Amino acid sequence: MNEFDVKGKNIAITGAGGVLCGSMARAVGLAGANVAILDRNFDAAEEVAHQIRSVGGNAVAVKCDVLDKESIIAAKDEVMKAFGGCDVLINGAGGNHKSATTGPDMPLFDIPAEAIKFVFDLNFLGTLLPTQVFGKVMADAGSGVIINISSMNAFKPLTKIPAYSAAKAAVSNFTQWLAVHMCQNYSDKIRVNAIAPGFFITDQNRFLVTDEKTGDFTPRGQSIVDHTPMGRFGEAEELSGTLIWLISEAAKFVTGVVVPVDGGYSAFGGV
Ligand code: NAD
Repeated sequence: MNEFDVKGKNIAITGAGGVLCGSMARAVGLAGANVAILDRNFDAAEEVAHQIRSVGGNAVAVKCDVLDKESIIAAKDEVMKAFGGCDVLINGAGGNHKSATTGPDMPLFDIPAEAIKFVFDLNFLGTLLPTQVFGKVMADAGSGVIINISSMNAFKPLTKIPAYSAAKAAVSNFTQWLAVHMCQNYSDKIRVNAIAPGFFITDQNRFLVTDEKTGDFTPRGQSIVDHTPMGRFGEAEELSGTLIWLISEAAKFVTGVVVPVDGGYSAFGGV
């Protein structure tokens, strides 16, 4: 199964101090990749890097704000210094925000523009800006892999979260655009794909899917389970296999796709 080998690859992951991308970082770290944990929250990044190093892997924590180009360039310089190159960029930083979520106290008509902008910028610009910086390294090297993180709401918008839905649709669209652009302008050895996770309970959605006091599912949380043929939320580790496949030579003719990892959610018509 050498095709799936990621050993020795230099991988930068944004948002890797968080739940899903922290898990991805540990998976590729255990598989022998050199992993740069990029996050705005340095302590969270260092914690993940420490976990990888403590089992014999190679990881560095790097402070990086994906909305600040200077910060991304400084992070890229640190990655180049630590590993001598960057073969893979995973654009993981992203998420929704309570202030851009409709509800009894927040009708659509009153959502502040800044709230929409915050979510749109984090997910779309937060993917585009690191791609500009690390994609240039790949263009110069003539090879590389970019993995974006999309979402179920890119296929069909979910209720309550208009900005997040639109932003992730933009991430999926950009994945296709960039895959073509890289092949046509730089190298057919630069591949760009996305993973669209289904539903995983993390800090950014816990308030929507579980009751803060009881820990039980909210009606929305229960509805997610009911609409997931496998009948449950995903575990972060369940993203690793798809990630390693997309990074590795096993996917060398795969570019411009958005792969759902969702327990069947996106396949289910609801009846
Ligand atoms: P998380 O909140 O656990 O992690 C997000 C990380 O991004 C945090 O460590 C945070 O510090 C970091 N971050 C936030 N803003 C940043 C910035 N400006 N610069 C650098 N780092 C920044 O979230 P998660 O659930 O692990 O989400 C990871 C990705 O997966 C996101 O793109 C999210 O939209 C996507 N996603 C999550 C789910 C889910 O069910 N949790 C489903 C689909 C897609």
